[in-house]
Amino acid sequence: MDTSWEKSAACKGLDPRIFYPPGEEDAAPAKAVCDVCAVRIPCLEHALSRREKDGVWGGATEKERRRIVRQRRRERSQQKSA
Ligand code: SF4
Repeated sequence: MDTSWEKSAACKGLDPRIFYPPGEEDAAPAKAVCDVCAVRIPCLEHALSRREKDGVWGGATEKERRRIVRQRRRERSQQKSA
C-alpha cells in the first residue's frame, strides 16, 4: 500500500495524543489539524482500508469512520440490486 502521503501529513511532529482523544467529543483539536491537511483523503482511505479502530484519521473519528463504512456498504448493495 502506498503511504507516501504520510510525508505531507499536517500532523507530522505533533503530539500524537491529540489524535487519540479520550472521547469523540474531544476530537475537535485533531479535526482542526486534519481540516487543513493536504492529504486528508488518502489518510482517511488508508484508515478505512485498514479498519483502524482508534484515533482520528482523515478528520474522522472511529464512530464517523464506522458510519462511512456502513454507508458505502449500503450504496454498494443498492447498486447491485439496481
Ligand atoms: S488527515 Fe489528519 S491524521 Fe491524516 S495525515 Fe492529515 S493531519 Fe494527520
